[in-house]
Amino acid sequence: MIPESAIYVVATPIGNLDDLTLRAIKVLKSVDIIAAEDTRRARLLLQHIGRDKAEVISYFDHVEREKAPQLVDRLLEHSLSLALISDAGTPCISDPGYHLVREARKRGVTVHPIPGPSALTALVSASGLPSDRLLFVGFLPNKKMALEKEIGSWKTLGASIVFYEAPRRLKTSLALIHALYPNAEIAIGRELTKLHEEILLTDPVGALSWCNNHEFLKGEAVVMVRIGDAPADTPEAKENKREALIIEARDQFKKDASLKDLLGLYRDRGLSRSELYQLLLEAKGFYGNEK
Ligand code: SAM
Repeated sequence: MIPESAIYVVATPIGNLDDLTLRAIKVLKSVDIIAAEDTRRARLLLQHIGRDKAEVISYFDHVEREKAPQLVDRLLEHSLSLALISDAGTPCISDPGYHLVREARKRGVTVHPIPGPSALTALVSASGLPSDRLLFVGFLPNKKMALEKEIGSWKTLGASIVFYEAPRRLKTSLALIHALYPNAEIAIGRELTKLHEEILLTDPVGALSWCNNHEFLKGEAVVMVRIGDAPADTPEAKENKREALIIEARDQFKKDASLKDLLGLYRDRGLSRSELYQLLLEAKGFYGNEK
């Protein structure tokens, strides 16, 4: 019987070679072709498991789109099996693979996951931060405005956010997290599964001082952030804020703002719509306390 064409998406170690699973070894030893981000690294891994002769082809970011259809053609034409591996960890997780997997699925080629290491799951599992709701955002943007926009968008997610970051850029993103979310909790995983593995669970101040103590941060890092709730206002602080907003709203009414305008303008001031409505009526003098 002609074996069916198939693709195996194989996770490989992110540092410690012992993390290669038994199933990954079996698959890597038996497939017809191995598509790898870096063929030299792939050959070292294959040598490690005793497969010296294998067809290893290069499959990386810049050629993904163009190579995917050709590869699928070849698999279908000759009923071949292929294992996809990246430099480290799980393909398609901030690594090449998406275009190939999608093309294969569209054209009826079976795709099997061979799960295993990933820096993402490694940190989540050992961080000590809540993992009930997770958002993985890959690498953060390089440009300042895009970075601010991304980190600013985490405010209301109610989830733990995980991102990959080059250690030399960590300080910039942590400083922004500190400025926007001083109550956040942060876990940093550096060199996970390697000899100098470090996992830190701290607050933004602790994370920044950890960065400052590693003047020349090297290696690889993954970060998990849980945005803390802002401390609740005391009753006096709440009343003071309310009074201040009433004064502000009175000024706006004097400048001919409408109730509808101000309902929109003040919608992010931490009041429910009905609380804000009451406050604005008060400011407008509806209750007779406006002179
Ligand atoms: N596909 C990989 C995975 O599943 O983890 C991720 C590939 S991505 C191109 C590489 C990034 O993953 C690194 O820049 C770093 O942020 C993170 N990373 C990879 N290995 C790591 C390790 N041993 N410790 C901490 N972070 C790691």
